[in-house]
Amino acid sequence: MSENGDDASHQLRVSKIHNGTVIDHVRAGQALNVLAILGIDGGDGESVSVGMNVPSDRLARKDIVKVEGRELSQDEVDVLSLIAPDATINIVREYDVVEKHRVERPDAVSGVLSCPNSGCITTADEPVTSRFEVLKDGVRCGYCGTIVREGIADQIDT
Ligand SMILES: [Zn+2]
Repeated sequence: MSENGDDASHQLRVSKIHNGTVIDHVRAGQALNVLAILGIDGGDGESVSVGMNVPSDRLARKDIVKVEGRELSQDEVDVLSLIAPDATINIVREYDVVEKHRVERPDAVSGVLSCPNSGCITTADEPVTSRFEVLKDGVRCGYCGTIVREGIADQIDT
């Protein structure tokens, strides 16, 4: 096995965490948005490490995010899929990858994105829970129809 092979280096990096989640094959430049989505700020004993612009077989360059002591919820994975559609989620327990799957784009996400349209009912004083339909190349507000293609990460409700 080549030392520079994606699998070999991947295994090496994954094996470094004890219990937690490794998010691999994140599009280069999106790692910090991934952290934002997960609400990770390094507090509460969470140990996070980020690799940026790592050479990859599947993508030209990728980011990789390792979160010690935390497994992602389905909601988090759903939002993650919007900005990192190629990502692979590796669940690690006792240094072993016990689960590995690619993210799947959901049909819709609720309560995680805010609508950029200031006239939208979801941004009113007593807002209703936002709901966005997931399109091939973006998301569409279920209330006012505003489509967000670029900058989805900026619309994440934190
Ligand atoms: Zn809207």
